[in-house]
Formats: sequence, structure tokens, C-alpha cells
Amino acid sequence: MSKQTHSFQAEVKQILHLVTHSLYSNKEIFLRELVSNASDACDKLRFEALDNAALYEDAPTLEVRVFFDKDAKTLTIRDNGIGLSAEEAASHLGTIARSGTREFMAKLEGEQKKDANLIGQFGVGFYSGFIVADRITVESRRAGLPADQGVRWSSEGTGEFELETIERAARGTDVILHLRDEDAAEFLSAWKLKSVIGKYSDHISLPILMKKETWDAEKGEQVVSDDWETVNKAAALWTRSKSDITDAEYQDFYKQISYDSDAPLAYTHNRVEGRSEYTQLLYIPKKAPMDLWNRDKRGGVKLYVKRVFIMDDAEALMPTYLRFVKGVIDSADLPLNVSRELLQESRDVKAIREGSTKRVLGMLESLADSDSADDKARYAEFWKEFGAVLKEGVGEDFANQERLAKLLRFASTHADEGVSFADYVGRMKEGQKAIYVITADSLAAAKSSPQLEVFRKKGIEVLLLTDRVDEWLLSHLYEFDGHPIQSVAKGAVDLGELQDEEEKKQVEAAAEAFKPTLERLQEALKARAKEVRVTSRLVDSPACVVADEGGMSAHLARMLKQAGQ
Ligand code: ADP
Ligand code: MG
Repeated sequence: MSKQTHSFQAEVKQILHLVTHSLYSNKEIFLRELVSNASDACDKLRFEALDNAALYEDAPTLEVRVFFDKDAKTLTIRDNGIGLSAEEAASHLGTIARSGTREFMAKLEGEQKKDANLIGQFGVGFYSGFIVADRITVESRRAGLPADQGVRWSSEGTGEFELETIERAARGTDVILHLRDEDAAEFLSAWKLKSVIGKYSDHISLPILMKKETWDAEKGEQVVSDDWETVNKAAALWTRSKSDITDAEYQDFYKQISYDSDAPLAYTHNRVEGRSEYTQLLYIPKKAPMDLWNRDKRGGVKLYVKRVFIMDDAEALMPTYLRFVKGVIDSADLPLNVSRELLQESRDVKAIREGSTKRVLGMLESLADSDSADDKARYAEFWKEFGAVLKEGVGEDFANQERLAKLLRFASTHADEGVSFADYVGRMKEGQKAIYVITADSLAAAKSSPQLEVFRKKGIEVLLLTDRVDEWLLSHLYEFDGHPIQSVAKGAVDLGELQDEEEKKQVEAAAEAFKPTLERLQEALKARAKEVRVTSRLVDSPACVVADEGGMSAHLARMLKQAGQ
């Protein structure tokens, strides 16, 4: 194929513009992206070679090399991974496949432009090379193709790219950055490159090699030698023993896999043996991602089998309500050619999911139940970010429902936040059997509800539930620790022993005295109210509407109406 010129997909032009303009203050991330692509390419080769060992050709050791040419002002990231065919180069380096990219662009266009945190959350990919380069040349040959089917892709990162066939003996890819003059000085330095690799790519499980530099006393400067040295740790962190890993290393690894610039809230690292054998390294982030509410979003757990990377976001490994968990699971039992479909059915995966769920809940419990004020504050922080998602679990994960119920936190008439069922039960009045709750759109609406009047008067605490999922939560959780959970907005409130004989008599007497009035009201409201009765639940207000016991609460009815149902 002689040289051809292609136009970028419109979205690519947009992202190129945004990436180069918005990320300039954080430009070193281009190296993280390109090294991560090189590492992905090696993972892909290893995976395809499971069925076809010939793909390794004569170079079975997978590695990444980073080197530069000061005179030409080029920086090259070389891998001997899967490589690209000409068609793949045109499509993978000319269009955008990533699903999150659109959202990313929308955010970058908004006001939060300068938010480094936000930028950190996304992989901005190959195109980030154009932050520092005014031309990128990619030379590649796909594993398995003959040497005369190499490809050269080249672009200035504006509207177009060129493609041509080349002769290339080596399998894999060279990404050659022609650095802008103003960036050349900074990145044509072994010291600088090593420090950026150390910061972002230390735990890439492949060796990253750079040429050794030695001190030339005669010239009085560092000179590049022909020897290569490994500049990263190159051992997958989770395979190392816990006692050898520092807290800082755990945190760095988290940042690397999550693109989160904040440290994680908590993590757990275990080697599980027994019926199913696997290693898990799981993190709870501090802040919720923007797409937390998208239940279709895949989780953040990567699956490895015997240290071979299998897939990102293996959703079968975590229940949906723990979709915010990030980390790595490395199984010793699963077949290497496992597919997403197979994962759904595998018994080993089920065991892993159950084990991992327990670990995550355990992490949360140890924060929530800790005596340390610091841990408790961290749990409160967690609850603020992820509490509403955790509530989904109450209806989805019956095996852990009790544990989840203990982790729930609410507002109540006693405190505006952080009230657990256990706190509530501890404050129950003598003779009180039920846990009383009310649902509403907001805390203010809940607090001013007339249905609370009698509870206020008697000093009985009521939980104020204001999350959208709370109605749903109540339809799955009926009791806590033997105490029924009762909505004060439903049916006749049976205060049981909390109501004295005197009051009961008063209600009965009033019902008798107002009988004709009640009958007239009942007649007038026939089509709209099932029953009109005297109540003891009000103190100041003359009347209120309640739902039938077992019926929909007024709040749920309102929500459904809003949703057009
Ligand atoms: P992502 O890595 O999230 O897929 P990128 O923009 O980083 O997005 O890369 C786009 C695509 O280009 C990759 O999915 C891959 O198919 C291809 N690619 C990039 N770098 C390489 C490489 N070094 N070797 C092989 N393919 C690559
Ligand atoms: Mg990438």
C-alpha cells in the first residue's frame, strides 16, 4: 500500500483539541497512557498466544523500551506486544471506541476544565501523545503477519493521518513522538522519564527498560550507554507478600488502576485458599465517580488468571451494589480462555464473588464499628458518597441482608445524620416494639410532616428517609433485630403499650361523638378516600392523609406519578 491520507473521525478531532489544550498543565500523563497501551498490547499477545504459541516468534520475553534521540528530538515507546495491522491502525488510531470518552469531553468543556482530579479519573489514551508532540509516527507489525506487512501511521494531530505499508522485522509497536521544542528539554532526560515512569507505571507487570546512563568524567556529563536496565518494579503488586508491601505502594497501585488522584479510603489484600484459590486486592475509593448511578456501568475489578490479564471490569466478580469497588482478582482455578458469558455461570466465580463481597463488607464494618473517631469519620465519608448504592444491596443480596442493614445510616428526629438501626434500638422507649420511619422528598419535608406529631409529643424517635431508593429499601427490609420496621405514614399507628388507657378511651369517645361528621366526610370523599377516622397521631394539625397498611405510601405514589407511571 502506498501512502494514503485519511481523515480523523469528528470525535477524534474534538478530543485532540481538548486533550492538547486542557491537559497541558498535566502533560506528563502522556507517558502513563502510552506505557499502559504498550502493556495492554503485551497482555493481548500473551492471551492470543495461549491458543497459538507461534505468535511469540523468536521473542518470548515481553517488554517495553523507552528511549530518546536528543538530536532528532524524538521519544520512542517500543513494545513487542500484539502490534497493529494496517486496518487496525486506521480504525484504532483514527476513531474512538471508549465509552466514557464522550462524558469526559463534555466535562472538560464545562467549567471544571482545570480540575486535575477529574482528568485523573479518565484514561485519555493514545491521543494524549499530542500534548507534547507535534507529530506522532507509529510503526508496527502485527504478530503473525509477515515482515512486509508492517504499517506506518503518522499524524500531526490535526485533521488527518497518513498510512503506508512498510517492511518491519520486529513484531510489536514503536510509538515515536516528535516533541515540540518547548517540551523537548523536559522529556529528553532519562532522569525525568524515570521519575514519571516510577510515579505512574511502577507496577506494570512487564519490565520497562531504559538505556543506562553513566558519568563521563572527561566530558563532565551523563552519557547514554548501550546497556539497558529495568526501571520499574515489574512485579505485579498483588503477587507479592503483604508484609513486603508498604502503604505507599498500595496507594500508588490504586492510583494507577483507578486513575484517581486521591488515596483510597480503604483496601484489603488477601490470598484465599480452599475450594477456590485466588488473590484479591480490593479498594474502596474516597469519592464517587460521575457515573456511579449508571447501573449498567461495569465494575472496576480486573480479572487475571495465574497472573495473565484476562479482562477489565469483570462485572461477574462483584455484585452491582458494590460497583464502586476497584481492584484486581487473580484466580488460580479459572481457565485462561474464560469469556464474560462463562464467567456468569462459573461456580468458581460465584465463590470469588461471595468471598470478595464478604471482604468488602468486612472492610466497611471495621470502619463503622471501630472505636477510633478517625475510622468513624471515614465511614461517614463513605456513607455520604456511596450509602445510597449500598442500600440497593439490601434488596439484592439476601445472604448479606443482615450485615448490610447494620451498615445503613439515616437521619432521624434525634440527629440529622449517621443514625444506625442499632443506635435507634438503643434509644427505644420502654414498651416500644417497632422501629418507626417516615419517607419524604427532603429532610425538611420529613421533619414538618404532621404524621410525626404524636411521636414528637411522646419523645419517640422516627427515622427520616429521604433517598430515592428508601421506599424500595423498605419494601425489602421488614425488621431489624426482631423489631418490625413501620412507616408512620401507613395504616393506623399502633403505639401499643406506648399509648395509655386514657388516650385510647379519648379516641374511642371522639369516634363516637364525631360519628355523623365522619359519615358525612366519608360520603363526600367516597371516590378518593377509603376510610375517614379519628386518630391519635395528630397533636396540632386537624387532619392528615395516610396510606393503607400494606399499600403505597403517599411519598411513593408521588414518586411514581413523577416518573409517569
Ligand atoms: P484504550 O487503551 O483505552 O483502548 P487508547 O486511545 O489508549 O484507548 O488506544 C486506542 C487503541 O489503539 C487501543 O485500544 C489499541 O487497540 C490501539 N493501540 C494503542 N497503542 C497500541 C500499541 N502499543 N500496540 C497495539 N495497539 C495499540
Ligand atoms: Mg490506552
